[in-house]
Amino acid sequence: MQEQKSFRCKDLGLECEFEEKAENENELMKRVEGHVQTAHQMNLEQPEVQEKIRKAMK
Ligand SMILES: [Zn+2]
Repeated sequence: MQEQKSFRCKDLGLECEFEEKAENENELMKRVEGHVQTAHQMNLEQPEVQEKIRKAMK
């Protein structure tokens, strides 16, 4: 059984249509990080920022 994970910027309360899916959380994080860093100036080197994004993943 494959556990797909998805992320939407809207779940972070952002006015943004970006969404992404991946096979697992780590893969999804890789795909999402470029977007959130450039579009939303989030610093993923901060653990609390990573945590916030992981919690928004479904
Ligand atoms: Zn976004």
